[in-house]
Amino acid sequence: MTSVQSHKKAKALKPSSRRPAKELCSECGLCDTYYIHYVKEACAFLNQQIPQLEQQTHGRSRDLSTPDDWYFGVHQDMMAARKQQPIAGAQWTGIVSTIAIEMLKRGWVEGVVCVQNTDADRFQPQPVIARTAEEILAARVNKPTLSPNLSVLEQIEQSGLKRLLVIGVGCQIQALRAVEQQLGLEKLYVLGTPCVDNVTRAGLQKFLETTSRSPETVVHYEFMQDFRVHFKHEDGSIETVPFFGLKTNQLKDVFAPSCMSCFDYVNSLADLVVGYMGAPFGWQWIVVRNDRGQAMLDLVMDQLDTQPVMSQGNRQQAVQQSIPAYDKGVTLPMWAAKLMGIVIEKIGPKGLEYARFSIDSHFTRNYLYVKRHHPEKLDAHVPEYAKRIVGQYQLPD
Ligand code: FAD
Ligand code: SF4
Repeated sequence: MTSVQSHKKAKALKPSSRRPAKELCSECGLCDTYYIHYVKEACAFLNQQIPQLEQQTHGRSRDLSTPDDWYFGVHQDMMAARKQQPIAGAQWTGIVSTIAIEMLKRGWVEGVVCVQNTDADRFQPQPVIARTAEEILAARVNKPTLSPNLSVLEQIEQSGLKRLLVIGVGCQIQALRAVEQQLGLEKLYVLGTPCVDNVTRAGLQKFLETTSRSPETVVHYEFMQDFRVHFKHEDGSIETVPFFGLKTNQLKDVFAPSCMSCFDYVNSLADLVVGYMGAPFGWQWIVVRNDRGQAMLDLVMDQLDTQPVMSQGNRQQAVQQSIPAYDKGVTLPMWAAKLMGIVIEKIGPKGLEYARFSIDSHFTRNYLYVKRHHPEKLDAHVPEYAKRIVGQYQLPD
C-alpha cells in the first residue's frame, strides 16, 4: 500500500481533543485532517527540521557563514515594495491578495488556501480554498489569531485540485512542506508572511482590552517600524501606543506558547515572503527565496513601486537592554514610553536593521521561554541559525 492510501485510514482529531504537541500546538490545522498520520515528523513543534525542508524546497539550507542567512533565511533577492493602488482594507497595500488573484486569473493555480473570518467575528479565522478573486479578497487583512489553515487539506485531495497556492505563516508552512509529497498535487506554490506573537481568540481580547482605548472597534493592528502599535478603528481613525508603554506584566501570558517557542519568524519554507519589517515605514518587505517565488512576484511587478532594501543604525544595545526589562515585566509610565519611542525612532535601527532588532528580541525571549518551560526540547528544537543569533547576547538564567 502506498503512503497516499495509508494516511486516509488515519482519523482527524475532534476539535476538543488534546493535540500531540500539547500546549505548544499552534492549531495549524494538520491534526484536523487524516494527515495527522504524519504528525510526529510534520509538526513544527514536535520535529524541528527547517534545514532539511529548506534543502528540499530551495535546493539548499541556510549558509551558516552568512549572518544575513541566519536572519532572513535562504533568499535570492529582497526589496521594499508597495502597490501603486493599494487594496482597501488589506493589512498593508494588499500585495499578498494581488499575487494570489493574478495566479488564479492566469490559470497558474486552480485554488488558493487562505483565511477569511466568520460572519459573527472579524477576528475569528475561517480557512477556505478560494476559487474566485472575490473569495481571495474576502480573506485580505490579518486575522491575528492562531488559524487552522491546513484544516482544508482533506478537501484538496477530495476535490481533485492539482495546482494550488497556499498562503500561510511559518508553522503552517513547515507542516505543509513535510506532507507536500503526499498531497497528490502537480504544482504547489507557497506565499508566506512573517509571523510573531500570535494569540488565541481569548488572548486577542485580553490584548485589545489592556492596550487599546476602544477594543470593540479595532479593525486591524500592527506592531510598526516606528516602535508603536498602530490600531485602526472602524471610523478610520488610527490610535498609536508605544511598544515601551505596553503593559508587559499583564501581557506576559497572552502570546500563545507555540509563538513563544517559535524560531521561524521569517517563514523559511515559503517560496516568496511578504511582510513589512525589513522595509521603510509605509512599505512592504519582499523576500524571494527561489525561482518559483521570483515568478510569482514577476506577475505583479508592473503594479508595484519598488526600492532596494536599506539598513541603518545598530540594534544590539537596544536588544541587550530590553532582555532583562521584558523578563522582569517592566512597564514605563506613558510619558516616558512616548519619549523613549520618539528618541528610538529618530536614532534607532531602520530597514533590515529594524528586522534584525525584532528577530533578536523575539528569539532571545523565546530561547529563554523554551529553556525554562521545555528544557528537554531546547537543543533539538532551536535551529542552529537561531542559536547563533541568541549567542550574541547575554541572557539571564
Ligand atoms: P493582504 O492582502 O491583506 O492579505 C493577508 C493574507 O494573510 C490573506 O491572504 C490571509 O489569508 C492571510 N492571513 C491572515 N491571517 C492569517 C493567519 N492568522 N494565519 C495565516 N494566514 C493569515 N510581517 C512582518 O514583517 N513582521 C511581523 O512581525 C509580522 N507579524 C505578523 C503576524 C501575523 C499573525 C500575521 C498573520 C502576519 C504578520 N506579518 C508580519 C505579515 C504582515 O502583517 C502582512 O500580513 C503582510 O505584509 C501582507 O500584507 P498584505 O497587505 O499584502 O496582505
Ligand atoms: Fe497538530 Fe499542527 Fe498542533 Fe502540531 S501544531 S499538534 S501539527 S495541529
